[in-house]
Amino acid sequence: MAKIHVLDEHIANQIAAGEVVERPASVVKELVENAIDAGSTKVEVVIEEGGLQSIRVSDNGSGIEPDDCEAAFYRHATSKIQHGRDLFNITSLGFRGEALASIAAVSKVTLTTSSNDDGLGRKLIIEGGKLITNEDTAASRGTSFIVRELFYNTPARLKYMKTIQTELGHISDYIYRIALSHPNIGIILRHNENTLLQTIGNGDLLQVVAAIYGTQAAKAMIPIQAEDLDFSMQGFVSLPEWTRSNRNGISTIVNGRYIRSNGLNHALLRAYHTLLPINRYPLVILSLTMHPSIVDVNVHPAKLEVRFSKESELYPFVEQAIHAVLRQEVLIPQPVKHP
Ligand code: ADP
Ligand code: MG
Repeated sequence: MAKIHVLDEHIANQIAAGEVVERPASVVKELVENAIDAGSTKVEVVIEEGGLQSIRVSDNGSGIEPDDCEAAFYRHATSKIQHGRDLFNITSLGFRGEALASIAAVSKVTLTTSSNDDGLGRKLIIEGGKLITNEDTAASRGTSFIVRELFYNTPARLKYMKTIQTELGHISDYIYRIALSHPNIGIILRHNENTLLQTIGNGDLLQVVAAIYGTQAAKAMIPIQAEDLDFSMQGFVSLPEWTRSNRNGISTIVNGRYIRSNGLNHALLRAYHTLLPINRYPLVILSLTMHPSIVDVNVHPAKLEVRFSKESELYPFVEQAIHAVLRQEVLIPQPVKHP
């Protein structure tokens, strides 16, 4: 007798959720990325108890068509890519069509959305992957997801969760990177009634730096801007005399996506070379733009790691551009301003 069978959709979603939804911060990440992909100019994130009790992400983006609401929760269902070749030309943050299915499999989700301005929209409730409600509702344009009781039906994962402070730390770290990657989007983060971050969304990156790292840090930043045939780069790097004790202040952004790259980190640290004391690190916000075909984001479910097809050109480009700016600062120090 045959022993092999295809798993039903529900179990498949729970297995996939193990990869995509590691902790509350993963839910925040997926929902905020969806809000950005929907063209939102304002995104509000409200969490309770480190996100273990509830996570609400509301946006003023395109909204979801009533007939698409259920399908949005199917696995591998996406409006962002269509053909295999699209994988080599990704311009959105999402494309795998996995997040909503995975989140809904391990929590209780309420979606409220409207794709028009007539005040009408759609409300869905899904618990543990099962549709409970799908009805008309009053709603203004945009989308709001509330995710409650994360991991309520996967006790092994729930037990693995750390303290509220730790989970909150992961969430705020991610929201900071998103705010730095998207200074043109107004982002609010609240936890248990406290506002942890609020950016204006007027495109002023230095204001975002000040909101996250403080005004002293913002004053120590110098702008960088460089361009060659394949890459363009802009952002801010800290003066060598303003340092931090760890690398967390380094944010590398590629085509609007915050990523982690050892290669980029090494390149920009090489640019500081002898200028920094030992075990001290700069504050760097580096936003790179390149043709989507040069960067492969389909390496890891969380899309934090990427591969560059032109890394042997990219790393020297970054190193030299930052080095040039720093050398200028060190050789020709800015005059001290007296009040
Ligand atoms: P992906 O982002 O990879 O497409 P998701 O599971 O995250 O997959 O979302 C599925 C689909 O639901 C998206 O492709 C999009 O069409 C829709 N969607 C999700 N969130 C939003 C949102 N905030 N605003 C508009 N559409 C959304
Ligand atoms: Mg998504």
